[in-house]
Amino acid sequence: MSAIDDLVAELSRLPTIGRKSALRLTYHLLKQPAEQSQRLALALTTLAEKVRPCARCFNLTEQELCAICADPRRDASLICVVEEASDIGAIERSDEYRGTYHVLGGRLAPLDGIGPDDLTVGPLVARVAAGGVREVILATNAKLEGEATALYVQQQLAPMGVAVSRIARGLPIGGDLEYADGVTIAQSISARRTL
Ligand code: ZN
Repeated sequence: MSAIDDLVAELSRLPTIGRKSALRLTYHLLKQPAEQSQRLALALTTLAEKVRPCARCFNLTEQELCAICADPRRDASLICVVEEASDIGAIERSDEYRGTYHVLGGRLAPLDGIGPDDLTVGPLVARVAAGGVREVILATNAKLEGEATALYVQQQLAPMGVAVSRIARGLPIGGDLEYADGVTIAQSISARRTL
């Protein structure tokens, strides 16, 4: 396999990039000074080496704990459960929420072979069991799989006596948290309902 085929194959694995875009990006890089490709390669290597899940909430970080878990001003008695680390950025931009998070690492999707053991529900239950948590807010998305995931997490937390709430459906139907605007997310959190 040639170096060009190699890169095209790797780029084609990325979401939203088909073979045609992969070819375009590859030929674009070849027209640039070699240093640009080398910087890109270094950035990718550094990303893979340094970024890891937070030991407490599974947010992405380069430290043991993420910036939110390590911040003493955050209210650790509140845990907002999201599907992906990228959802945290969206909620943070709303500038409304001062609690902490828990990243599930996806949603239940039996057809894709994603079951409870593929998500970080166990560590979430352990966090609640360790004490000091007064409310868990379920902020999985409003699509069918997000709802099923919220229900599953709620069932796992039910025996623990912690308050569990679900964000309001202020989000656009089927819209991912990541793409919702800050005001919508803020309203969605403040209008959450206790389950
Ligand atoms: Zn964290």
